[in-house]
Amino acid sequence: MIIFNQDVINNFFYIILSIFLIFFLVEKKWIHGWYTRMATFVSLSMAIILCMLSPIYNNPYCVHDLRMIPFVLGIMYGGPYTGLALLAVLLGFRTMIYSWSIVAFVIYVVIYLFTVIGMKWFHFQRLSSRNKIIFSVGIFTFHSIVAALIAKAMTIFVIDESYLINFILLPSCGMLILTYICETLLKQIQIKQALVKIEKMEVLAQLAASISHEVKNPLTVIKGFLRLLQQENLPVGKKEQYLTIASSELNRAEDIINDYLTFARPDPEQVETIFISEQLQKLADMVEPLSNQQSVVVHKDIQDSGIVGNTRNFQQAFLNIIKNAIEAMPKGGTLTILSKVQKGNVSITISDTGVGMTPMQQARLGEPYFSTKEKGTGLGLMVSYRIIEAMRGIITVESRIGKGTSFQIVFPVDHVKDPSSI
Ligand code: ADP
Ligand code: MG
Repeated sequence: MIIFNQDVINNFFYIILSIFLIFFLVEKKWIHGWYTRMATFVSLSMAIILCMLSPIYNNPYCVHDLRMIPFVLGIMYGGPYTGLALLAVLLGFRTMIYSWSIVAFVIYVVIYLFTVIGMKWFHFQRLSSRNKIIFSVGIFTFHSIVAALIAKAMTIFVIDESYLINFILLPSCGMLILTYICETLLKQIQIKQALVKIEKMEVLAQLAASISHEVKNPLTVIKGFLRLLQQENLPVGKKEQYLTIASSELNRAEDIINDYLTFARPDPEQVETIFISEQLQKLADMVEPLSNQQSVVVHKDIQDSGIVGNTRNFQQAFLNIIKNAIEAMPKGGTLTILSKVQKGNVSITISDTGVGMTPMQQARLGEPYFSTKEKGTGLGLMVSYRIIEAMRGIITVESRIGKGTSFQIVFPVDHVKDPSSI
């Protein structure tokens, strides 16, 4: 009678390892959607194969290991298609290692069908964590009994005490522990996602409160000047002056609202390959009127590469940085836009020869409402930092008062569609 030997521990180890691997990839956000199902399949297939290679119990009539646990976990958490793919792996390797067996085939297919039907019947997706664990142990014990009955009906198989322990008790306890681990890990991911949302909502609420305050100032000014404009016999010069002030205040209110909206807009789902050269060129064209107006010469040295992200967000992030660079050179200067591909990364540098920043100012970059400009909103860089962070980019800033500033942003290259690799 075997209850706990090295092979039992090995079997558990393989299954836990595969579960942690999937959790790690999902938690780090390296995979999502279809890739998660693919990773679940690959990882649990490895666990199934490794379990089969370390049998717990071996006699002429049956070989036993915990392969059924990753199989049923795969159906429960990966869905019926992942389960079907795992069934194919299970049957394929079973046949390769021990030769074809009609009994094994019938048992696996019945277990697959029972699990899928059981999940539909009990609305598995909607169950609480506790009920999911109860479901998994219940269905697994049921499977073990059905498997024993099928084996008994189709072969000269004997159900003894050792069988009850090794085939029913041990795997069901294993299932209990492993489903518990899966549920705990899944909860961790859900809590983390909820926290990110709450954090964003909190920032939004803070912003909304202060934005109404921020917009009120220019509106009050505009109101005042409109009232002045109503006066009769206003000299033409004055009229023009009032209109200019009112329109510049309107622009300010518009800037504040635009910056806020970029942040408040829901995250665009669409993630695509962004070709750096094309986008940086577009940005340079976009700011050309502004740079001409301030006698800023634009110098470009761009190496093309693909990175992953949302194009609109990318443009917004860099437009804010480039606009700041131009605004830092009121008496003209040189704006340099560089991009370089190195060791799987692409580094984009935006430098200016403008006013520069003190170390104190540099430390506050990205903070909401930090602005040294008379009409600044202090929201531009906050939005840029958030977007770049979400794209897994790293920002470094170097600046010297009176000399200029350089923003360097490093992104990982999208290897699949990197034009330099085609
Ligand atoms: P705003 O441009 O409305 O002031 P930002 O968030 O875009 O708000 O920028 C915040 C502050 O960071 C600016 O007011 C400025 O003091 C500083 N800053 C950003 N970029 C530069 C730069 N290239 N050179 C000098 N100062 C900069
Ligand atoms: Mg700005």
